[in-house]
Amino acid sequence: MATPLHPRTGLPVVAMVGGGQLSRMTHQAAIALGQSLRVLATDPAESAALVAADVVLGDHRDLAALRTVADGATVLTFDHEHVPTEHLRALEDDGHRVAPGPAALVHAQDKLVLRRALTEAGEPQPAWAEVRTGADVARFAATAGWPVVLKTPRGGYDGKGVFVVPDEEFAAELLAAHGTLLAEQRVEMVRELSAQVARSPFGQVSVWPVVETVQRDGVCNEVYAPAPGLSEEKATAAQELAVRIADRLGVVGMLAVELFETADGVLVNELAMRPHNSGHWTIEGARTSQFEQHLRAVLDYPLGSTAMTAPVVVMANVLGGAASAEDWTGPALDERVHHLLAHWPDVKLHWYGKGQRRGRKLGHVTALGDDLAEVRARAVAAARYLADGVVDPAFAFADEH
Ligand code: ADP
Repeated sequence: MATPLHPRTGLPVVAMVGGGQLSRMTHQAAIALGQSLRVLATDPAESAALVAADVVLGDHRDLAALRTVADGATVLTFDHEHVPTEHLRALEDDGHRVAPGPAALVHAQDKLVLRRALTEAGEPQPAWAEVRTGADVARFAATAGWPVVLKTPRGGYDGKGVFVVPDEEFAAELLAAHGTLLAEQRVEMVRELSAQVARSPFGQVSVWPVVETVQRDGVCNEVYAPAPGLSEEKATAAQELAVRIADRLGVVGMLAVELFETADGVLVNELAMRPHNSGHWTIEGARTSQFEQHLRAVLDYPLGSTAMTAPVVVMANVLGGAASAEDWTGPALDERVHHLLAHWPDVKLHWYGKGQRRGRKLGHVTALGDDLAEVRARAVAAARYLADGVVDPAFAFADEH
């Protein structure tokens, strides 16, 4: 099948499954390349469906909907990992280009598949076992120690599907409810890191500096680029690890390798084969953002420079907070945006247009500068002000209001 191009622009059409903020920000990058993202969304009020012109409404588990969005598109890609593998195979059999392909993507979909592949590749990861009964978990804990971390192999995100299990009884209850689970040793970590790489079908790869991610309750809150205090040797080793994984699995597009840093080195936690929260900082903080690079990679375009635009970049998520509550009496969202722009003129805001709910990722802010403590304070104060209407005393509003 000839590669379909847009009949009017003569340029490619990338179709993305999923209408969340990742898709919305990919659409923004597509515009600069003369394209317009085609989006498969489940609801017209989803983040990307609100802004893209070419929206197909349908479910990512429905092969007919997937065929509709892939038809006439140059390549089909994803803003989440939940499309069934057999559907992706069917689309490939139809002659559609799918990036990343199903054989690679399954390693981001199924944590047991990933653990097996990393064992085979001899890459560093936590001790693990596939468990079906409480007795299996107790056997694993005899060497790994309690508590054990149990994970649902598929479908988890933002810490949902991750359980810290203190004993065999609790383990048996979880297994009765969930069936087969992945057991992992609980890692004594110094912090969490993320190494992002993009890979094109041609085999070109590009890496960004390794970043530190700060999670609270399993949800990413802040990202520091580059990871503060990480030696050049360790950073290079983590980048090389990410490139080896991308090459070995045949990833096309963005790959985020989530890492645990321990006293002895790094361990691979999990993979995401799409733009990832740990790379939002690249929109302003790098010459090429992860969103643009994902498009370039899935289209087999040459990849862009990943050089940073400032010595230090901090991204802070705006999670639904006090201002999302029904009985909120503080300043309205528009007023908070106004204040934010006035008081932090060089903090960049990305608001996703979603309904406000407590804990939901509603937007993010990015700050650039030279000094981590100062840049972080600015980003966190701005994000917190949007979420909770709280004014950090260090940033008390001046008299002009
Ligand atoms: P999700 O797919 O929901 O993102 P993860 O596997 O990334 O789930 O786990 C969520 C968080 O739980 C991680 O970011 C980390 O903070 C913690 N965690 C996960 N696995 C372990 C482990 N083996 N040891 C210690 N903490 C863990």
